[in-house]
Amino acid sequence: MENKVLIFGHKNPDTDSICSSIVHEILDKKNGWNNTKAVRIGNVNKETQYVLKYLQMEIPELIEEVEEGQEVILVDHCNFDQSVDGIENAKIISVTDHHNIGNFRTSEPLYYNAKPYGCTSTILYEDFKKFNHKIDKKEAILMLSAIISDTLLLKSPTTTQYDKKALEELAKIAEIDVNEYGMEMLKAGTDVKEYSEEQLINLDAKDFNKGDVKYRVAQINIISIDDVLKREEEIKTVINKTIEENGLDLFVFAITDILNSNSEIIALGKMVDIIKPAFGKDLVNDRVFLPGVVSRKKQLVPDIDKNI
Ligand code: MG
Ligand code: MG
Ligand code: MG
Repeated sequence: MENKVLIFGHKNPDTDSICSSIVHEILDKKNGWNNTKAVRIGNVNKETQYVLKYLQMEIPELIEEVEEGQEVILVDHCNFDQSVDGIENAKIISVTDHHNIGNFRTSEPLYYNAKPYGCTSTILYEDFKKFNHKIDKKEAILMLSAIISDTLLLKSPTTTQYDKKALEELAKIAEIDVNEYGMEMLKAGTDVKEYSEEQLINLDAKDFNKGDVKYRVAQINIISIDDVLKREEEIKTVINKTIEENGLDLFVFAITDILNSNSEIIALGKMVDIIKPAFGKDLVNDRVFLPGVVSRKKQLVPDIDKNI
């Protein structure tokens, strides 16, 4: 595997990270570049398992770290805090991403394909078009699953006209009812009953830093916020433990109701005072309800970041 160029998304991979890695490899092959390989750098969540099972596809191989000089392609992230161990000394060939550019640097030139779309797969969809490649059913389902996941069926404020157009065209190719398939897929990801509190706060956690401040914003998508809040005390205990173990200044855990597009957040850590200026509401018992908030990237992180 060492001589392959490894393609991967972020830690605690979501459907976009996994599907876009696979699609990137397919696209590379179509372009005559046979030396790339989609891998993952964390566990596959239930939503993504649903997609791969639907397509009867294998889960990409897990890698824990990369050696110095390993050639890599990053999708769905660029921030080194969210990337594989050893990324600082890897050779980054290209990035295809839809996030802000934070902690990222290279010593050599690279392809950097960034668009502020709702999903990495929308960028890859446009790459298929650019090269006049036909998209088959399986490829369409991989990409539309990523778009549905990242945009919560086009309801997230991160959704752009490009995502809408891509999803519409991909649905035609896939010949599936996007709303029906999408709801089933999203619901599969909300089945969190059997997870421990520790697993809950790590399912979709991302690290950020600004100056000396280190913070983590974790999120789970669910149908009932109250179901999760029944475990509030246990959740707070593991968050506090995580803060201590990782030297975090702030931990924000967003419990997102994907049907009604709201989030309840639990915030802990020595910098919790920034929650008030960030969201205009006081924490009560470490919690605050944020109506209309579903996007970490667009609604949570920018307001936290500005107030640090
Ligand atoms: Mg992602
Ligand atoms: Mg994404
Ligand atoms: Mg996400």
